[in-house]
Amino acid sequence: MDLSFTCPNCKQELVAESKGAGSEIECPSCSNMLTIPDAIPQNVLPHSSNESDAHPKDEKHWSVPQHDGPVESLIEEALPSLEVSAKDTEKRIRVKTIRHSDCVEVGHDKFDEIAGEVLEKIGQENTLHVHPFNYDRLDLGTRQMVSDYGIMIIFRA
Ligand SMILES: [Zn+2]
Repeated sequence: MDLSFTCPNCKQELVAESKGAGSEIECPSCSNMLTIPDAIPQNVLPHSSNESDAHPKDEKHWSVPQHDGPVESLIEEALPSLEVSAKDTEKRIRVKTIRHSDCVEVGHDKFDEIAGEVLEKIGQENTLHVHPFNYDRLDLGTRQMVSDYGIMIIFRA
């Protein structure tokens, strides 16, 4: 079972296992030595599940209560998964449009090559959607409107 008491020096609220009563510990808040008091009805905490029995015997016999504000925020900062998700939300949805006619040099159709390079640069994990589209353009040689095609890439970056 656990018992709660306060550090006589800095008044930090502490929780210790009752079997640690009488032993000297260093206050995690002010680093002064203090003695864990004997279990009395006023400081015994309600038994929560089998938590104290489940821990290995070499575990420290005191802890700062979980509801303590500063300690909780320290724990949150230490979680790497939160940092990763924060970086993900910083990514924005972007659109890249590749028109076939923009990729045609004299005698060379480089559309597939350019589209492949762009997709590889963006990366599969960031590519949300690749959408084909048709458009009309004025052919400079024949001065006629011709149909052409392209792709629109929607991605995160
Ligand atoms: Zn203290």
